[in-house]
Amino acid sequence: MRTLHVRIESTLPSWQRAARSLLADGAAAETVHWDDGSATPPLFATSYAIDDSAPPVRVPATFAALAEAVACHRDAAKWEMLYALLWRLTHGERSLLANRVDPLVANLRDYQQQVERDVHKMHAFVRFGRLETEEGEEWLAWYHPDHDVVARAAPLFVERFRAMRWSIVTPRTTVRWDGSELQFAPGAGRDEVPQADELEHLWRTYYRSVFNPARMNLRAMRSEMPSRFWNQLPELTALPSMLREATPHVDGMLRDQRAAPSAAPFVPSGANSPSRLRQLRDAAMECRGCELYEPATQTVFGSGPPSARIVLIGEQPGDEEDRRGAPFVGPAGRLLDEALHEAGINRADVYLTNAVKHFHFEERGKRRIHKTPRTSHVTACRPWLEAELSAISPSVIICLGGTAAKSLLGGTFRVTEERGKPIYGTRWAPTVVATLHPSAILRMPEEGRREGMAMLVADLRVAGRVE
Ligand code: SF4
Repeated sequence: MRTLHVRIESTLPSWQRAARSLLADGAAAETVHWDDGSATPPLFATSYAIDDSAPPVRVPATFAALAEAVACHRDAAKWEMLYALLWRLTHGERSLLANRVDPLVANLRDYQQQVERDVHKMHAFVRFGRLETEEGEEWLAWYHPDHDVVARAAPLFVERFRAMRWSIVTPRTTVRWDGSELQFAPGAGRDEVPQADELEHLWRTYYRSVFNPARMNLRAMRSEMPSRFWNQLPELTALPSMLREATPHVDGMLRDQRAAPSAAPFVPSGANSPSRLRQLRDAAMECRGCELYEPATQTVFGSGPPSARIVLIGEQPGDEEDRRGAPFVGPAGRLLDEALHEAGINRADVYLTNAVKHFHFEERGKRRIHKTPRTSHVTACRPWLEAELSAISPSVIICLGGTAAKSLLGGTFRVTEERGKPIYGTRWAPTVVATLHPSAILRMPEEGRREGMAMLVADLRVAGRVE
């Protein structure tokens, strides 16, 4: 098979030109070697001449958005992956992007998410310093993003600091705003950037403009940084007055929450670190993302080591979990312990959590009867699950029951048909295995229970064997 060596610049328009030309020539994805200058060219390949007059290609809007984000990812394999996806989209798999368990789609969506998180981090962590130049006052920041997200992040800085002249230097790219237009130039190392005084006024202005009181978790903030240190950070000296002014704003946001329930405003942003899970757990205690928090006793967050290789996800806490504030400590948890033991998995080594973090129930007399969470509850609560998975980065996820499996693998997933079959290359973990929920086994008639337990143990063994 002849390999085509396609030389491009590391930009989306350059890749698009080449991809159009290759598609017009019928070049299948596996025959193309993409070279953006960051890797060694292959020894035996035919140099490909890009035809600029190739016709445009019609793609779904979701592909265009995905490609724009993925093009910023640092992995040079992104060009090959994007072309493989484009090839399949234009060769009979038009709905491919809806298939979230397809390994290529899952990988690219993961890249997209990594880039979006990086943009968010850049907005949060860039700190400007003030410089006196011949042309007057200028503001300067040096920042090191994980991906090449400067162009994606820049518009928000323009919005915030339109009247000022500023530059952000990163190792790959520098962006400058001169008060009327953005200019991009090559980046520079930290040592090459002049040191400037800590900017106080500008940073406070910026912090005020992005301050989101509904996400403010004072307990978590104090645990991360005692309040006596707050006044050393320019942005935080404004905090007390902002909190006082915030109440009507928070009320408005909580009203909006009821219209479209989501935990998202309550999930603190932050990079992964050893304390990230603790930060998330503290913040989740204050979650008002859907109505389930009201009758429940408390949020039941996940538990287990932050470095766990295996994460087990159930549906929601039960009555006992709700009272004790820990997952899988009731009858279903005891059955799960037994099954884990039989499968040779140590419970202390795994992280246990639920798709929904509050107990959904109805009261009958003195009893609280479990109610299956609605799709809206699962969707509202998913930001917590995503944040947990991102903090742990497990090798294997075991979905216990349909609610957890559908939350990660899509609404059409059927545990009864797909249980015990590893799904590889998902955006959540390299391997996902779905199996029965222990409560479902407890609800089985006596004679079926042994068989249900055998299935659960067999599926756990499958997951436990994954490297
Ligand atoms: S169920 Fe989830 S989204 Fe709803 S209030 Fe509880 S933690 Fe928040």
